[in-house]
Amino acid sequence: MAARFGTVFSQDFLPWVCDQIGRERDPSLRAGGSVAQKTKKPKKVVTHLKLDLLANGIDFIQSGIGQFFLKGAPNPRTHKYAILHIFSGVLLLLKERLRRAHPAFVRSNIQDAAADARTVDFIEAVSRLKTVADCPLSGSDEALLRRAQKVRNQLEHYQVEMNLDQARTLVGELAEFVFLFMRDQLQENLEEHVSPRVWERLQDLRAIAKALAEAKRKAWLVRISKYAKMTDAELVARREGIEPYHPKHNPEPEGIFWCEECGQEAVVIVESDVAICTNPLCRESFEVAACMRCYAPVIGGGDFCESCQGYIDSQ
Ligand SMILES: [Zn+2]
Ligand SMILES: [Zn+2]
Repeated sequence: MAARFGTVFSQDFLPWVCDQIGRERDPSLRAGGSVAQKTKKPKKVVTHLKLDLLANGIDFIQSGIGQFFLKGAPNPRTHKYAILHIFSGVLLLLKERLRRAHPAFVRSNIQDAAADARTVDFIEAVSRLKTVADCPLSGSDEALLRRAQKVRNQLEHYQVEMNLDQARTLVGELAEFVFLFMRDQLQENLEEHVSPRVWERLQDLRAIAKALAEAKRKAWLVRISKYAKMTDAELVARREGIEPYHPKHNPEPEGIFWCEECGQEAVVIVESDVAICTNPLCRESFEVAACMRCYAPVIGGGDFCESCQGYIDSQ
């Protein structure tokens, strides 16, 4: 795919990235300042920018951990900034991976060679990593990043308070993602890029997140054990027993949802917060949440249904 976009990449791109880096480092330049452009040295730019999305991303992560999680009892009001910083850092790492696939992929519109061309946002970055950068993210990684993005948006736009444990867990999960993404996709060892104190704290946060995930998984297996024991025939009967829609007799039929795991329309809600796939070959189970905006079921958990999330993202 890189060849397909090869023709649109031009020399104009390098000064543009340099300028972008200047803007990202110095918020006062984001509104259109051009200090970075005036002071850049073209010969040095190539090696410099190779490091800069990466270095910038790590800076954000290091500052998020360093400023808000090194203290024994961090101020609950400030840990939201840790999430904001770390999320910005993750986005820069995703951009770095895109840049390595092809520098033009970092631009939202790859054909836009203007100096102030917009760079990809989170949603574009994730989708482009999968489609053109040969960097498939696992379902759980993508779910984590989307969850983190939702939290980031809520913190930024809705003045949502977050308790310390929630923040710690999310930061721990992101720390684990960053460690593995850097190792597997960027061939970098996170430990070599952060201070020993921050690395030590990152290890604690990763361990907390892993232990919580394991406890959650075990509790879930206990909860769904009765469904796991159902015979194939019982499973199929559960789905086939759902009464079809009828305008008079059954105007609000029980829903049957698509299964992300097997791709079949076979998921039924068996408890208010549990859904199972009734395809006997799949039998995947899902957490069900209620959309915070319209109360529709959200299969797989999450705060908002797809259409409400789309609405929120467009705001
Ligand atoms: Zn399935
Ligand atoms: Zn909704």
